[in-house]
Amino acid sequence: MREKTWRQTHVKVEVSALNFYTFVVTHRVLSPVAMPFTHRSAAADVRAMVGGKAAEPLRVAVLGSTGSIGTSTLDVIAACPERFSPYLLAAHRSTRLLLEQAHACRPRWVVVVDPAAAAEIGVGALPEGTCLAVGPEALDDLVQSPEVDRVVSAIVGAAGLRSTWAALEAGKTVALANKETLVMAGPLAMRLAERTGGRIVPVDSEHSAIHQALRTGVADEVTRIVLTASGGPFRTRSSESLVHVTPEEALKHPTWSMGPKITIDSATMMNKALELIEARWLFGLPAAKLAVLVHPQSIVHSMVEFVDGSVIAQLSPPDMRLPIQYALSYPERIDGPTRRFDFTQAMTLDFAPPDPDRFPAVRLGHEAAARGGTAGAVLNAANEEAVRGFLDGAIRFTDIAEVCARVLEEHPFQPDPSLDDVRRLDGWARQEVVKWACV
Ligand code: NAD
Ligand code: MG
Repeated sequence: MREKTWRQTHVKVEVSALNFYTFVVTHRVLSPVAMPFTHRSAAADVRAMVGGKAAEPLRVAVLGSTGSIGTSTLDVIAACPERFSPYLLAAHRSTRLLLEQAHACRPRWVVVVDPAAAAEIGVGALPEGTCLAVGPEALDDLVQSPEVDRVVSAIVGAAGLRSTWAALEAGKTVALANKETLVMAGPLAMRLAERTGGRIVPVDSEHSAIHQALRTGVADEVTRIVLTASGGPFRTRSSESLVHVTPEEALKHPTWSMGPKITIDSATMMNKALELIEARWLFGLPAAKLAVLVHPQSIVHSMVEFVDGSVIAQLSPPDMRLPIQYALSYPERIDGPTRRFDFTQAMTLDFAPPDPDRFPAVRLGHEAAARGGTAGAVLNAANEEAVRGFLDGAIRFTDIAEVCARVLEEHPFQPDPSLDDVRRLDGWARQEVVKWACV
């Protein structure tokens, strides 16, 4: 108990020091929860204040460790053992991979959220020194433990909100891949983090790029944020042919290897819609300052335009290990496992505006970002259910955006919802999609 109190205090000092410097340096900061520093020297000052480089590796809780982001996170941790150590790995049902991961990296805890899957874990299956916990409540408790220094939130979909909320409630620094937290409950999550001293550092590659670009200016100088999009596998397909797209075709992404849900979202460009909403709350910018640009090479991860016309972009090979590592090591930059460019080879970068006829989802994202309130939660839930329906063969590819538009338009909008309102409308939107698909 005594150790708990000390550690909690220690974490709080570190976080409030960061917030203090963010405020002093930028003056006109949009949101201290997510805004980066504007000067490297400020970051160095903070390091000095908290005692220089971490003497001990940061203990990381990886929520969704068996997924695409989760396994990349474990790569980063394995490549930087002097900086990070895995404290907790959590997954839904994929116990076989979870156990493999536990044997490879020896965390203190593994959490299986689904009790039925956990029941299949045999006696002696875990490595020595690793304990098993079961269920979402256990995950909430462990995430809030003073032993956890960083939380990687990489559970897919609305299911990720709960544990991200628990982490922010405990004032943790969250490396946020689960964009749904901000899409569904952006203002609530940002207010919570401000209250508790929690911090969100984005993992989504576009938002990581923006976070990095914002370090070159201050909030009032930002005129536009441009999110880049690969355009997915159907970037050049005719709109008439999109109705015949199969799940197998949609699951083949040209530049990124990701989980199935986000891969379908990339094919419809709903992923960009969700990212517009995510950016709106994360950086506290009006929706009118957010734009989308198709960039098929996925090398420029996003850009920020400043008042003088300068555009600052972040470039790197498409590899999620870089934004994950950045979110874990921030405010420092460290060496890691990410691939590097070979500048001796020719390289071409293309950019084009998205086609609104073939990708109507982008408009829905602009609309939901502008409306705020319950619009993001409803769009997200409708889309999750529609993607499930598409993968199950119940609806067509082009139905996804159509049903989302309808549910968004018809929903009982609330401008300033509570978390309960958000959850209720999430359920309502899912039922509407199911009803629509059954007609
Ligand atoms: P994935 O499908 O590969 O993995 C999902 C993980 O979440 C798995 O470990 C699974 O066990 C766990 N999970 C699922 N349901 C759960 C539940 N109810 N409770 C607890 N755990 C549960 O997904 P992913 O592609 O790694 O994406 C994870 C998150 O990161 C998503 O929010 C996605 O939008 C975001 N993201 C992913 C990428 C990427 O490159 N994959 C890029 C940017 C953002
Ligand atoms: Mg992204």
